[in-house]
Amino acid sequence: MTHRPRVIIGNWKMHKSADEAKAFVRAFLAAFPWPAEAIVGLAVSFTLIAPVVKEATDSPLWIGAQNMNDASEGAFTGEIAGPMLKDAGASFVLLGHSERRRYYGEEDAFINRKVRQALACGIKPVLCVGETQEERSSQSTDRVLETQLTLGLSHVLPEEAEQLIVAYEPVWAIGQRESASREEIKQAHGHCRAILKELFGPAAADKIAILYGGSVSASNAKVLLGVDDVDGLLVGGASLCLENFLKIVNDSLLT
Ligand code: PEP
Repeated sequence: MTHRPRVIIGNWKMHKSADEAKAFVRAFLAAFPWPAEAIVGLAVSFTLIAPVVKEATDSPLWIGAQNMNDASEGAFTGEIAGPMLKDAGASFVLLGHSERRRYYGEEDAFINRKVRQALACGIKPVLCVGETQEERSSQSTDRVLETQLTLGLSHVLPEEAEQLIVAYEPVWAIGQRESASREEIKQAHGHCRAILKELFGPAAADKIAILYGGSVSASNAKVLLGVDDVDGLLVGGASLCLENFLKIVNDSLLT
């Protein structure tokens, strides 16, 4: 089996001014013991990418975006293109986050075009998948993951798979007090891994990190990182606080 490095990504959503973001990154880099086995990234608002990339110059910290358009340029008022993100210094982009699916009606075919556009621009797509509470209650979790992964990764080649990251984020566990249970996460990650093997073959699928997201905190990160097939974490609310995020990153080095 391929050795996959730990990946911890903070999703700041629509938070932080440029000054706050730069101060966070400065303090994070001062406190974090580079070089380390773990990959650490921050998915920030578009306006923060360039200043934060500058603050993180010469460090291994990944800076990424939370969305992008599927076209490389054009008359799409209010949108942002992959080459613009690349230009600003982004190295990855979250795609298909449940908040994009839910509030902005993003569907799998559109998300798939974004995934392919990101790959074409040399930006790592972090494809977010996960079921709603209703889907879990109706025993549809496996089918939802199959649909979101199969459609979301359609036309992606096995040789591109290494560039991909998948984040399993059960919608019902996002922004709550409690994460999904170890057993629920183990089952879903195992299923995602099996689907990726079907799509890309075992060797290519083995290179894809699968992150868990949904109410990760400084107190549960260690336990979650110990679950089978969890390669890392996508952290929302807890990534906004330097102390909590550092604790989560440090835990990822120990487990
Ligand atoms: C998210 O929305 O990607 C997320 C994981 O949020 P939280 O950690 O706050 O549940």
